[in-house]
Amino acid sequence: MSQIYNFYAGPAVIAKEVLERAKEELLDFRGTGMSVLEISHRAKAFDDVMVEVEANVKQLLGLGDDYRVLFLQGGASTQFSMVPMNFLPEGRTADYIVTGSWSQKALKEAKKIGSTHVVFDDSENNFRRVPQQEELQFSEDPVYVHMTTNNTIYGTEFHTIPQVNAPLVADMSSDIMARPIDAEKFSLIYAGAQKNLGPAGVTVVIIKKDFLDTAQEVNATMLKYATHAEKNSLYNTPPCFSIYMVNLVCQWILEQGGLKAMEAKNRRKAQYLYDAIDQSNGYYIGHAEKDSRSLMNVTFTMANSDLEKEFVAEGEAQGFIGIKGHRSVGGLRASIYNAMPEEGAKALAQFMADFQAKH
Ligand SMILES: *Cc1c(COP(=O)(O)O)cnc(C)c1O
Repeated sequence: MSQIYNFYAGPAVIAKEVLERAKEELLDFRGTGMSVLEISHRAKAFDDVMVEVEANVKQLLGLGDDYRVLFLQGGASTQFSMVPMNFLPEGRTADYIVTGSWSQKALKEAKKIGSTHVVFDDSENNFRRVPQQEELQFSEDPVYVHMTTNNTIYGTEFHTIPQVNAPLVADMSSDIMARPIDAEKFSLIYAGAQKNLGPAGVTVVIIKKDFLDTAQEVNATMLKYATHAEKNSLYNTPPCFSIYMVNLVCQWILEQGGLKAMEAKNRRKAQYLYDAIDQSNGYYIGHAEKDSRSLMNVTFTMANSDLEKEFVAEGEAQGFIGIKGHRSVGGLRASIYNAMPEEGAKALAQFMADFQAKH
């Protein structure tokens, strides 16, 4: 097979070393003579994975004993409901920074639960940027502030964490562990694994213990964070294989040099593609404003939009898979998560220049 580069937005590329490791271990997990796909979630060998993965996530993010890491199901989309169900009591208001479709969806679910306040909403300009601190007009005493750190569809990303006077809750589905962050500034972080952490099927929730203690009663056991915290994410059968894969991905990131090394590589990859856009004399048009550009999702259209279909088709023929843009932006999108090798981004940038020369 010729070289394939996977630019899908999610599920997305997983490091080859991780897939190789999973393949090696698939039939005999840690000497049990059984596959990780078939052992009990209460077996010792699996319990070891749970302990390791929580420790690895915390180590990578620089978090200590005042945080818990939970492994839940239902995707990031279920977190849109769980956050307000647990943390938005009657008589209080939750603030939402709306920077794309995913924050809109989070807001929509919160509105069903209680009172909300929109801090910023740039939908009019099709979400080309994230706000500056001065633009953030918070409500008087929000119970929490919700943000989306990276806007997967629009290709924008916060480069600094907003200053807030309330617990900060973040959907980091598409940029968790892409760079070092001051994770302690967040009371709750959630991320569907299928972009930067592994396969679909598990959502990682990182929650500060003292914030968890403020949760209200929830009338559905499975939708209560406390249930999962008390049982170490083993209240019911967890998505064992996905969790095991997240652990392998965390080990891989650590072996690569941690989040600093990820960031350095991610910056180089993004640079190749943004340079290809900026040096094209308007042939390619970046969707995001420059200072809001994402390191993970590079979104662009073509001045001659008739050529976009051909760009996708020719790209696919040359091994660049998943470069068609999301329907809300149109055009093209290259998702270059942690596991995308540098050569992949470089090769796509070269393809962009070649395509321009040819057409
Ligand atoms: C993909 C994505 C989601 C949706 O995740 P699911 O796990 O499919 O529910 C939510 N937020 C962001 C930022 C995403 O990129």
